[in-house]
This record gives sequence, C-alpha cells and structure tokens, in this order.
Amino acid sequence: MILRQMHFGLPRLFQSLAMTVIGMGKAKKQSIYLKSIFLFFAIFSFGYAKDFVIIDKPIDFSPNRISMTKDYIKVHYGLDVKDITINPKIIVLHWTAVPTLEGSFDRLRPELLLTDRKDIAAAGAVNVSSHFLVDRDGTIYRLMPENYMARHTIGLNYYAIGIENVGGKGDKSEDLTQAQVKANAYLVRYLKTKYPDIELLMGHHEYAKMKKTKYWLEKDDNYFTQKNDPGDIFMNAVRSKVVDIGLKNPSEF
Ligand SMILES: [Zn+2]
Repeated sequence: MILRQMHFGLPRLFQSLAMTVIGMGKAKKQSIYLKSIFLFFAIFSFGYAKDFVIIDKPIDFSPNRISMTKDYIKVHYGLDVKDITINPKIIVLHWTAVPTLEGSFDRLRPELLLTDRKDIAAAGAVNVSSHFLVDRDGTIYRLMPENYMARHTIGLNYYAIGIENVGGKGDKSEDLTQAQVKANAYLVRYLKTKYPDIELLMGHHEYAKMKKTKYWLEKDDNYFTQKNDPGDIFMNAVRSKVVDIGLKNPSEF
C-alpha cells in the first residue's frame, strides 16, 4: 500500500478553510489572512511531499514476535509491559551491511533471530528489526508499525525509531547515496512532526555516548557491540538538512 504523505489532509483542509472564509464574508481582513495561511500550507505541503512516499512492506510480526519482544523488554529493560508500543524520543540511523534491498529485507523479515547472529543470540530469540528501510535510490519502506518496539540498538530500543539503509560494504565503507541522505532527512522531518517528543538524532556508531543517559535501559553491562554504521559522513549530511528542527546529537545530550 502506498501512502502519499500529507496529501490526504489537503482537500479537507482546503474545504474547511474555504468554508471559514465564506462564513466571514464581512470580515475582509480575516478572509485575506486565512487565504494567505492556506496558500502557505498548500505550497509547503505539496513541495514537502512530492519527492517521497512511504511504502508499506511488512516484515513478519505475528503475536509470537510481539511476545518475544515483551520478553526482551522484561529481561533487558526490567519492564513488565502489556503491549510493545513505545513513546519515541530518539531516531537511530543504520546501514544493513547488505548490498541489496531484498537481501536486507530477508535479514529482518523472519521472527526468530538468524542462526548466524551468534554475537547477540544469548540476548534473546526475537529477530533484529527496524521501522524503516531505505533503498539505494531513496525509496522508503515501512517494515512495521512505527510505535512498536524494534530490536535495532542495544540499550535504546524502548525509546528509539530505527531507520536502516541498504549498503555499508563490508560493514565498513561509507557508501550510502545522496538519495538516501535526502530520504533519511525526509523521514526525520516526518517523524519529528508526528512524534514531537523526539529530541535526538544519532547514528548507530554513536550509541555508546548514550550509556549514561536516562534513555539507556540495558541491565546487562556486558551486552554491547561495536558499531560502524552509518558513519560520520552520512550523519553530517543528514543533520545538515534538518538543522532547523533542532534535534540534539548524543554529544550534546
Ligand atoms: Zn546499526
């Protein structure tokens, strides 16, 4: 299903504003004022929305994955939750270290952690996941409900929305594309609008800096992996496009 972000609301917005203006026939000044506001939003919304759409491409998320996620929350974060919804405060950007969209998707789709992830197998059976996956050409896929907890960043999952990017050759080289920079900036802006409590934007490779903060919930001090993704070049590029929305980075937190 393709969702054309921001497009739904516009006809209704137009209708209600038009009705308001009609209803205020006498108050000319207010009418002009309202028309200007409408014009501003119409131009802004179409300009903002035309480049990107979010395509739903769900990974497997049966009640079993939900139940395994609850177990993870209990063991690692010490919380007894009745559902796995989160209140996002952080956006974490990643690369998949897999060169293709389908290859990346196939790593995230199964509910059980793949057998080659021995590095984190002891920490729980639920597979790794991410809310979004961005292809090399900037196409954005939503893999799971935005407010479900995904397993993508040790310590921070309960507060963090994850965006994976196809690429990161050998889990080392910073090869993400300009189209991915733009798509990530779009998503960051989209998420901050939808979840105003989000206050941090970080790369996975920066996550150690979050250890002493209130958002770090991990109980096991030894459960930690070294990360390179998605690198400083990519983070700087994305951050430069969203400066105006005022998200902090971990060094400032
Ligand atoms: Zn990562």
